[in-house]
Amino acid sequence: MQPLDYRRGRSGRPLARAKARLKREGSNVCWSCGKPIDLSLDVRHPMSWTLDHATPLSRGGDPLDPSNHREAHRRCNSIRGNRADVTWPKQATSRAW
Ligand SMILES: [Zn+2]
Repeated sequence: MQPLDYRRGRSGRPLARAKARLKREGSNVCWSCGKPIDLSLDVRHPMSWTLDHATPLSRGGDPLDPSNHREAHRRCNSIRGNRADVTWPKQATSRAW
């Protein structure tokens, strides 16, 4: 039930708005590696901008609370392991290991 709500929220307006705002008003620096994030990159690019949750949703973090939001590269966000807010492309790379 919760995951369904989150999934709906991901494409819903409130989170989209929070993302747009963070992109616009944030530092555009990745909290994880400390490097700038290029906002012009395609969303599927590993170094593209993502919204990360300081407290993962799976641990009760609020998906819409701005204080729980921070900016990260898609790659860095993914490395961290919690993908609650990431739609990683399901493409051929899964066998790259
Ligand atoms: Zn990074």
